[in-house]
Amino acid sequence: MAKAVFLDRDGVINELVYYQEQGIIDSPFTVEQFRLLPSVGQAIKRFYEMGYKVILVSNQPGIAKGHMSEETFDKIREEMKEELAKDGALLDGEYYCFHHPEAKIERLKANCECRKPKPGLLFQAAKEMDIDLSQSWMIGDGLIDIKAGKGAGCRTILLGRMKCELCHLMDEENARPDAITSNLMEAAQLIVSEVQSPESEVRERAPLNPKPRTSDIGLRTRRNHGANAW
Ligand SMILES: [Mg+2]
Ligand SMILES: [Zn+2]
Repeated sequence: MAKAVFLDRDGVINELVYYQEQGIIDSPFTVEQFRLLPSVGQAIKRFYEMGYKVILVSNQPGIAKGHMSEETFDKIREEMKEELAKDGALLDGEYYCFHHPEAKIERLKANCECRKPKPGLLFQAAKEMDIDLSQSWMIGDGLIDIKAGKGAGCRTILLGRMKCELCHLMDEENARPDAITSNLMEAAQLIVSEVQSPESEVRERAPLNPKPRTSDIGLRTRRNHGANAW
């Protein structure tokens, strides 16, 4: 069985877009708005070197909400792959949820099993690509990614640069990640250190309860919740 790193797309692979008129931060809705984040291709290559498959798992309700056409979505997808290919990085799989419970487009209106925070996309990928979820990681910039990863039995890394304003939310949502890093390359380095650690074999068999690992984020101030909070 293979092991995988599951990646969210927006905010992990590419920059989020701020739509000033609507006052929202969302996915790119045009090819021009699509910008790869720094070092993403390098990070993906790191995952390969460690023997992981790299699989995209992404909610993309933009078509359902009428923000873009299917054709535009495909163009953005091609742009992403071309940009990654420039760094020699390929994705082993791409799994998207196009549904939304309030979709304007009737055929995409659904309370589906694939929309994160549900773990459906990860289960589907695991089944089709013979992935051992317990040996795999989910990396995303939202708590829905963490919930989906945990729901699938993966270890999880939240990407973000923030003080711990969101930490109480993690507890309320039962979505505490195993680690927080500020970007995908740091996440790759963290996984490298796990894989190389002499305890890693033991840890792989033991229930997942790693110690808090943070980069420049103030999570350590919440140690009073006890190690089990992690
Ligand atoms: Mg995201
Ligand atoms: Zn769906």
